Amino acid sequence: MEKKKEYKSALNVKKGMLKPPNINPEILNGRERRKKKYSEDEYVEGILSGNRTILSQAITMAESALDVHYNIIQPVIERCLQNSGRSVRIGITGVPGVGKSSFIETFGMYLISHGRKIAVLAIDPSSGQSKGSILGDKTRMERLSVQPEAFIRPSPSAGTLGGVARKTRETIILCEAAGFDTILVETVGVGQSETAVHSMVDFFLLLMLAGAGDELQGMKRGIMEMADAIAITKADGINKVPAEAASVLFRNALRLFPLLRSGWKPEVLVCSARENLGITELWDNIIDYLSFTTANGYFEERRKQQAVITMNDTIMEYLGNSFYSNKEVNSLRALLEKKLSQGKITSYQAAVRLIDKYINR
Ligand code: GDP
Repeated sequence: MEKKKEYKSALNVKKGMLKPPNINPEILNGRERRKKKYSEDEYVEGILSGNRTILSQAITMAESALDVHYNIIQPVIERCLQNSGRSVRIGITGVPGVGKSSFIETFGMYLISHGRKIAVLAIDPSSGQSKGSILGDKTRMERLSVQPEAFIRPSPSAGTLGGVARKTRETIILCEAAGFDTILVETVGVGQSETAVHSMVDFFLLLMLAGAGDELQGMKRGIMEMADAIAITKADGINKVPAEAASVLFRNALRLFPLLRSGWKPEVLVCSARENLGITELWDNIIDYLSFTTANGYFEERRKQQAVITMNDTIMEYLGNSFYSNKEVNSLRALLEKKLSQGKITSYQAAVRLIDKYINR
């Protein structure tokens, strides 16, 4: 038999020779740390002390589709819950290109300079698809991403929107427990995701562009009705005047909308991320909103309603996963799908038989 050739490399250590010490022990330690599995206490203590590595890993576990990860991290989230809830949660939406990343970067830097610690999260319904995400990775926020007072986390990818929303709500709890007092949740205004974001934030900000055709026609009315404020972006240079004009248009349009349940009258503001304009005014508006809704009790009421929505989302997600991962249901489903395509059964009949199978499994 041919003798195995010895692989010659300067990094190979000959048998019998003492292994030299690692050139950079920090690198190895880092690698070991990444691989380390934390106990429940280590997770909780790490998160509460603001350890970002442990926080990131806990979020990854919460986002995982594996039951084993879910079971480890749920008690951690429960314990963190007592230390959460004391932040301001702001949802930010707008079509791609409206300037969300740029706005969040400028707004985030402003908040940090006012002593706040911010976490930027995203809900991107497209990120699970092969085409890649609409929001993209957040590497565009170059200044913000290197700030120790900022924590940026891209959208969880896999799963239904309800599942993604559940994961983001859990991430909010973990970030708050880690000391982040301002949570920015970004989403694209092109689907159902803004409803999901609205159901997890205290203040919902809609970013709009001036001069992008017929603004009011193109905008889904439902999104405008959810907004606690509208900000016209890129109000600088030659866009300054059209932005002011658009703000008048939107202000008039909002007057025709029914009053929000909070009793709050949404403002229309103009801002420029590039020139750092309108940012203070917007933050002041959010502070006013918080005082107003705290005083009239709406702030508490909204958070309580959101807890019920979270419960319902969790039930739906659990039932969906449990149903579609059940072996017996799956084999019957394959059979019924065939019959369905042959026109031998109706969709309703097929659904009822599958649900029966699931219930009586
Ligand atoms: P997003 O897709 O909503 O996240 O939008 P981006 O933040 O990536 O911005 C889209 C484009 O608009 C980029 O080319 C930005 O440079 C530009 N942009 C963003 N904010 C401003 C602004 O305040 N003023 C101007 N003039 N351009 C901006």
